Amino acid sequence: MARMLRGVDISPGVGRGISILWTPEVVAVPLRLDDRALDTEIRRFHRALEDTRRQLMDLRRDVETTLGASHAFIIETQLHFIDDRMLTERVESIIRDQQTNAEWALELALRELAQRFAEIADPYLRERISDIQDVIRRLQASLAGYRTDFLEELEGPVILVGQDLAPSQLLEWLHHTEVRGIVLESSSSTSHVAIMARALGIPTVGGIHGVLETIRSGLEVLVDGYEGTVILDPTPLQIREFESKKKYFAEHLRALAQASQGPAVTRDGFRVRLHANLEEVHEVEAALRYGAEGIGLFRSEYIYLRMERSLPGEDDHYRWYRELLRRFPDKPVTIRLADIGADKVPLRMEYPKVMNPALGMRALRLGMRRREILDPQIRALLRLGAEYDLRILLPFISAVEEVMEMLEIIDENRRALHREGRPHRADVPVGIMVEIPSIAMMIPEVSPFIDFLSLGTNDLVQFMMAVDRGYEPLRYLYRPFHPPVLRLLAEVIRSGRDRGLDVSVCGEMAADIPSVLLLVGLGCPVLSMVPQWIPAIHYLVTILEQREVAKLARETLSLATGKEVEEMLLEWIQSHYPEGIYHRLLRHTHRRNRTPVPSEGEA
Ligand code: PEP
Ligand code: MG
Repeated sequence: MARMLRGVDISPGVGRGISILWTPEVVAVPLRLDDRALDTEIRRFHRALEDTRRQLMDLRRDVETTLGASHAFIIETQLHFIDDRMLTERVESIIRDQQTNAEWALELALRELAQRFAEIADPYLRERISDIQDVIRRLQASLAGYRTDFLEELEGPVILVGQDLAPSQLLEWLHHTEVRGIVLESSSSTSHVAIMARALGIPTVGGIHGVLETIRSGLEVLVDGYEGTVILDPTPLQIREFESKKKYFAEHLRALAQASQGPAVTRDGFRVRLHANLEEVHEVEAALRYGAEGIGLFRSEYIYLRMERSLPGEDDHYRWYRELLRRFPDKPVTIRLADIGADKVPLRMEYPKVMNPALGMRALRLGMRRREILDPQIRALLRLGAEYDLRILLPFISAVEEVMEMLEIIDENRRALHREGRPHRADVPVGIMVEIPSIAMMIPEVSPFIDFLSLGTNDLVQFMMAVDRGYEPLRYLYRPFHPPVLRLLAEVIRSGRDRGLDVSVCGEMAADIPSVLLLVGLGCPVLSMVPQWIPAIHYLVTILEQREVAKLARETLSLATGKEVEEMLLEWIQSHYPEGIYHRLLRHTHRRNRTPVPSEGEA
């Protein structure tokens, strides 16, 4: 019988396949060894280390050729762990002291590590235990003579189901079979596997409790990563609905991409520039494909997350951004200085433990104190500014004096380059993220110092409403339609534009259809979003009349509750576009971002 499970959307798209449950295959049990057997046991452990190292090296090579070097860094970390003497010595000493087998010694070593990791306050670092656990499971599998050869025999597309999945496991599956979807118990969207699934376009749903008890291997499964739903054993009607949804999105996006060439202008002539948000250099291909007119946000901290051994130097930065800029010439590229901290902390970086990392030492607060992080990045950007149209974006600004201090730091770097006789651009445009309410209220005072503003609505909503942006139970509060949020947005856009600043929105609101009505209505000239959404938003802009949505925006600003705003927007959408290809997309997008309304064809 068909069953629908509701979870969290982790990676968009729809996929259909046969479920395969991923459970740790090895169960380690303690064995008591004779004194004389201990040396042999340690040799056996070392053979497993060798075997696992070889497997990981093979995997790294395959991943580099099939998926690109940026995905191989996770395997690289695991190789470091294999070579870490602390691990080897600890396992050897457990074997000797407790006269036990290597499988069990590994299990005990893992428990010790898990305990230490559980005390780490930062969720990103804490989650790295899953990479270590994966290596230990591999070692145990190797000791038990377990192989993954069976993967080669799998036929047809699969849906991977697991409590969590280590990136190396996902990579291994991808190497052998066609993965059309992933279903996880974990709902973390910052885990490596979530980041990878999005980068690879694998529809993924998380947050399905008791997943291994609920789903068994061999079932037909539909995964809807837009809605965050999973259908087990679907009915023929659900399959037809699903296939048409898939076709609809594929065709619709293709048609939209074709129709969205040239500038996006409303029916009454208001021009909206559509930019792309990127996390990795290779995503620039998508920005080109979907017609981005600029890069509105390059989240450079992801580069730091990939560094395993040391911080990136000036030449590393220079190389990466040059590659990006070369592939995207003649259009503005906005590179945000690293917003390290909160859930984005490089693996081997020492990072102060605090109760509330999202409000602590992050972004430039960290960079200003650790200039070895900040200066190489600034120098590389100033040098590249001589050749390319790039802009520097300052993240997480809360006060005007921070902007002044940052301008001084940029100037120090400029003077140093000048002294060294290195070509650079002295007046690279500098802008700020407006994502903290305190700075949003100071636009008149901060504007003389900067060239542009980028509204980071993801954080702005979280800090205005005092609700964590990733906290499921309070999702109803984390909505951009609350009147105080809208009023502040309206004021920042107006105030910024009146002062001649280029104003953009680079939070998720920029790709959310009801929100776009408001942003265009408020006169926002630039929207920056995931590249895939550009064609849809382009189309939307071209069918709007700015005068009309401006009136709509004014009306919403006088309301008292988020619910009223939302209802007014939905009514407006329905009365203006009751039919037509865009209607479903409108409804769909609205649902995805907010209320869980039953989807079409749900049994
Ligand atoms: C934001 O806060 O809206 C933003 C774009 O930055 P990030 O999502 O990287 O925090
Ligand atoms: Mg932010």
